Amino acid sequence: MGAEQQVRADFVELYGAEPEGVWAAPGRVNLIGEHTDYNDGFVMPFALPHTATAAVSRRTDGRLRLHSADLEDGVAELRLDDLTPESDRAWTAYPAGVVWALREAGHPVTGADIHLTSTVPSGAGLSSSAALEVVVALALNDLFELGLPRWQLARLCQRAENVYVGAPTGIMDQTASACCEAGHALFLDTRDLSQKQIPFDLAAEGMRLLVVDTQVKHAHSDGEYGKRRAGCEKGAALLGVDALRDIPYAGLDAALERLGDEEEVRRLVRHVVTEDQRVERVVSLLKSGETRAIGPVLVEGHASLRDDFRISCPELDLVVDTALAGGALGARMTGGGFGGSAIVLAMAADVDTITKAVEEAFAAAGFTAPRVFEAVPSAGARRLA
Ligand code: ADP
Ligand code: MG
Repeated sequence: MGAEQQVRADFVELYGAEPEGVWAAPGRVNLIGEHTDYNDGFVMPFALPHTATAAVSRRTDGRLRLHSADLEDGVAELRLDDLTPESDRAWTAYPAGVVWALREAGHPVTGADIHLTSTVPSGAGLSSSAALEVVVALALNDLFELGLPRWQLARLCQRAENVYVGAPTGIMDQTASACCEAGHALFLDTRDLSQKQIPFDLAAEGMRLLVVDTQVKHAHSDGEYGKRRAGCEKGAALLGVDALRDIPYAGLDAALERLGDEEEVRRLVRHVVTEDQRVERVVSLLKSGETRAIGPVLVEGHASLRDDFRISCPELDLVVDTALAGGALGARMTGGGFGGSAIVLAMAADVDTITKAVEEAFAAAGFTAPRVFEAVPSAGARRLA
């Protein structure tokens, strides 16, 4: 049975009726543009083939029933009038937060029965949370005929995560899940949310992109994220701009000089400004068909995250170093940092050697075995039935 049929059958068993529809929304990998999204800068994610899939029906009685096939928990029953930000520490906060955000924005959502499952690895920096949010938002948008455009659904999902769940994240993850297209990476300007689909068809050029999930998740990563974010805001304030996005690459040296002995802020500013420029370089290389040439740009991005932003970890560095030594065209950590996943760009012929080298290096270092899979740029959120 395919995912869609399974979710439908499970819905019937749980709730005693056919769902009104089935929707899917993917996780994402960020190709380049890390920690730029809360600095009004550029990001370039693409959608994974892995998705959250949800069967959903409307209710009219102000109740919300939620169930995940992937957890032991039973059906959660909530009343829409009781939904309160930061009151729920369980997984249900993600879908409930979306309902809350829609209602708070004045949209007439009167209740729902939701059953979902996801193939997006959770907590691996691949945005399983955004996949959950977006699949629910798209389903409710369709069923309640809200007519909201994708970018706006992404905004509401971000609000759900920031305010309802209480996790301070930028707009990239939800926009990627909602707006990506197969065979493309999404060049997103997080200031005005303008987006361009950039053709990114690696297979046609004999290349592959691997995701290496290190299975590492550091407990303090939330606090570190907050610190980096505050440091970036301090940098912008010291430099008299709204956001670090406003520091042009050509003005970086002058900006760093103005920051004087603010050593930490200088490093953060240097990462953000050079990272925005790396996104623009990758876009122009892909546009001119020079896909291989993005490899070194990815490597520069990793060095900047490791040395200037200081959010890498030994496992991520080991993936990158081992992959490059094994002939990869490029590699870098992806996502928020302190664990999660790295990406590796390689010629198809080198994939097996590189995978084996990474696995062996992890074993030799005494690290947990990584999960390695190929990421094909896939479709964004969609209705399946
Ligand atoms: P990431 O988005 O990088 O995967 P997050 O910590 O942002 O990591 O989100 C992971 C959380 O999303 C999980 O702790 C869980 O609450 C929720 N989640 C992810 N997948 C599922 C699922 N299949 N069923 C229920 N909850 C899920
Ligand atoms: Mg997340």
